[in-house]
Amino acid sequence: MASLREYRRKRDFAKTREPSGASSVKAGAKPRPVRRPAATSRGTRTRPLTFVVQKHRASALHYDFRLEADGVLKSWSVPKGPSLDPKQSRLAMEVEDHPLDYGAFEGIIPEGEYGGGTVMLWDTGHYLAEQDDQARAIADGSITFALDGKKLKGVWNLRRWDGRKWLLRKKKDEYASSLDIAAEKPRSVKSKRLLAQIARDEGGNVKKAATGDP
Ligand code: MN
Repeated sequence: MASLREYRRKRDFAKTREPSGASSVKAGAKPRPVRRPAATSRGTRTRPLTFVVQKHRASALHYDFRLEADGVLKSWSVPKGPSLDPKQSRLAMEVEDHPLDYGAFEGIIPEGEYGGGTVMLWDTGHYLAEQDDQARAIADGSITFALDGKKLKGVWNLRRWDGRKWLLRKKKDEYASSLDIAAEKPRSVKSKRLLAQIARDEGGNVKKAATGDP
């Protein structure tokens, strides 16, 4: 399993309610049981993995795009959020791996802590990678995958452009569209709340959070 050392180094779990990933460390030794043909022990075509998009109003608004691979959530910060338009490549900055249970996190990171601000679970679901070994594909700098989320569907590609800079792009299919999904579907898939409502309910900075809402 990939290391969560950088994730933990950046956070003080006495101050933030983000998951420490302790449970996924234990789980890392023995992967969750999955239904897959015995012949493809490393194969993932047969097993849909989790993807998560968290809308995060930190020092700047961005969308954290996460793909389960190698026992963690491989993560990219997408300032403009995903676009359904295949002509719109979106910058996706590679960031540290996150624990699998981060995928359920929605709430407040205290101001002054790493990523301080409001986090919304903007979309989640499963993905199926075109490549057999998605962790290898990511390490090699290009992964093509089909999303089955509540908002995002169809085929996408993430490809390394320069160092930690990647490009996220929708591939042409029936889910490609000119719809501005970030503006049209701004609410949490977990709680239906907007960022300002999450901040209000959970003691965050409501004014700051509201600047991320349409
Ligand atoms: Mn973030």
